[in-house]
Amino acid sequence: MAQPLVLAILPGDGIGEEITSPCVELVQQALAQVGEPKAVENWLEAGAGTYTKQGNALPVETIAGCRSADAILLAAMGDPAVRYPDGTEIIPQIELRFELELYAGVRPVRSVPGVKGPLADPRGEQLDFVLIRESTEGLFASVGKGSRDDDQASDTQVVTRKGTKRVCDFAFKLAQQRKKDGYVGEVTSVDKANVFKSMAFWRDMFDEVSQGYPDISKRYGYVDAVAMEMVRRPWIYDVMVTENMYGDILSDLGAGLVGGLGMAPSADIGDDHAVFQPCHGSAPDIAGTGKANPTAMFLSGAMMLEWLAIEKDHAPYAEAAKVLRLAVDDAFRDGKLVSTERGGDAGVAEISTAVRTCLTALE
Ligand code: NAD
Repeated sequence: MAQPLVLAILPGDGIGEEITSPCVELVQQALAQVGEPKAVENWLEAGAGTYTKQGNALPVETIAGCRSADAILLAAMGDPAVRYPDGTEIIPQIELRFELELYAGVRPVRSVPGVKGPLADPRGEQLDFVLIRESTEGLFASVGKGSRDDDQASDTQVVTRKGTKRVCDFAFKLAQQRKKDGYVGEVTSVDKANVFKSMAFWRDMFDEVSQGYPDISKRYGYVDAVAMEMVRRPWIYDVMVTENMYGDILSDLGAGLVGGLGMAPSADIGDDHAVFQPCHGSAPDIAGTGKANPTAMFLSGAMMLEWLAIEKDHAPYAEAAKVLRLAVDDAFRDGKLVSTERGGDAGVAEISTAVRTCLTALE
């Protein structure tokens, strides 16, 4: 048996506060079911509410708590009504990526059995590819730095050799790992190398990195064409890697393909730390109504356990991840559990109970 894990837990704002407790309970239950000790929970403040109270959306104590944890579980942050004087929103969830150098945004696009996506083709219900979003530079390098006067505003996209090579390397390694599990072993560079110098540079870096992975094939796609292909035939993809802003947009498209933002988990991974959080935001339009779908948060918890298994070289965490993901699949499998975002009536309470029951049944 390993030492208890230390988890930094950041519920944030809006529906983030509603979906965090059930997720932490499921993670603890999954750990217990594989014979692991209860994780130590370090609940930390950050977000629009924190900014309103303290004038700082990401307090130093929160950053310190994240640094000292084994992994960070974050729900959602932000409130369109809470803004800095320049008109932009508080974005501690993005600042944390820069602070901890979480360069690889992992956005799996995996269909959950029983959850219908919007595509008519039956292959659209068996999607299983991963989008890797560069998360420390690109257009987001301009956050807090862009310029604005009465006549003009500009933000600059920055693409570095170090930043691009490390995220491409991550994507190729992931494709190698997936290939062992029967996936095709291919990485697609999603860029705009036909138009922007920064993107032609990106593609050169992608090509350089690809040479180290002769067992993995590569494909190129311009971001506009890839957006179309993700709707027309998304099943052609295995692993994609892309610039920060393109990844921001395409990951929401990916979420739409598997039933909505409430079904889409994610991870932001660096060399020393990792944050696990659903793809969605704080959904102020439904906050407090109990209508939120907590599944993306649960699947993010499973991704966290899977990452910890590799980081700590401790197989029981992978087993805990597997049972938690299976419990989610089992809860939806017969198609009767339908979240409110898909027109049903299941919200936080119903979905949490269903997943908990399925997890217990796997004991
Ligand atoms: P959002 O993801 O919060 O919501 C978009 C739409 O999807 C809304 O209609 C919402 O009700 C719905 N939705 C989202 N998650 C859902 C869930 N789990 N279950 C059911 N429906 C769900 O995006 P937004 O409205 O553009 O942004 C709201 C706030 O969240 C803003 O302040 C924004 O800056 C912030 N935000 C934060 C993150 C993050 O923390 N990672 C990501 C995106 C947006």
